Amino acid sequence: MMTPNNLQEFLKWMDGADKIEVFIKHRERCKKLIENADLIVMLDFNQPDRLGEAEKLVTASKAQKVIIDHHLDPHDFAHLLISESSKCSTSELVHGLVTEMNGGDFRNTSYSEALYVGIVTDTSNFEHGTYTGDTLRMVADMIDTGINKDKILDLIYNNFSASRMRLQGFALNQRMTMIPDFQTAYIYLTKEDLSSFDYEKGDSEGFVNLPLSIKGIIFTALFIEKEGFIKLSFRSKGDFPANKFASRYFSGGGHMNASGGDYHNTLDNTVTYFHKVLKEFYKEHFQK
Ligand code: 5GP
Repeated sequence: MMTPNNLQEFLKWMDGADKIEVFIKHRERCKKLIENADLIVMLDFNQPDRLGEAEKLVTASKAQKVIIDHHLDPHDFAHLLISESSKCSTSELVHGLVTEMNGGDFRNTSYSEALYVGIVTDTSNFEHGTYTGDTLRMVADMIDTGINKDKILDLIYNNFSASRMRLQGFALNQRMTMIPDFQTAYIYLTKEDLSSFDYEKGDSEGFVNLPLSIKGIIFTALFIEKEGFIKLSFRSKGDFPANKFASRYFSGGGHMNASGGDYHNTLDNTVTYFHKVLKEFYKEHFQK
């Protein structure tokens, strides 16, 4: 197993996590693994640029390539595309495939825990996303066969550092802007903000969801200043298409209600651009 970037802290307790190769940590080893592969199965993304630094190697590889994914608008860069955007998570899709191949036994705790984590994190613990009765029946079966859901939820959601908690307070208090005319709120964090709260990757996970609980807000954005570009996350309610907004203006994508992208410019210019394109997009959406 390989991931382009570091594994998030809140996932490191999972069985097998220590065996995952991180491309940006061990470039040479990962390069060899990709070059020697006969088969590459890509999970939970459908655009080659999501591979980060590994993109060129993977696209150039002669291996057979399979994508298993649940995002909208898949790009054509694999031999076999297993794509179902009606599934709330790739985990659910994987379980369907494993079951068809005669497996899928939830008594295997590593298996059921991994699937449960995929479903819980992709739905923000069943708060949003396209989960269905089938998803809940699957989760019910996992709980019946013995996963410890309280332990898992505790490990995912109650595992923050004090500085991360303080960063959240700061973000809401000092860095949140409301745009009531377009039912939008956004938060930005500069590099200096992040370093003054001892930021670690993953610390801002979930911040983008917070302003959605403000009355009347249907669209939220989070701007994180990186080296040379701004990383953006978007969340929306109802049929306001966060994925279209991300793909049209920020070279990104995702789901109707959860998407992301990036913008190669300064933070100030990104915020100015966001105001401009939001106005255009909001008007277009509500004029329909
Ligand atoms: P998050 O805001 O949690 O990073 O991402 C939310 C959703 O947007 C995820 O489903 C993720 O796949 C998608 N997403 C985030 N960033 C990007 C991006 O840069 N490009 C694309 N295509 N999708 C993204």
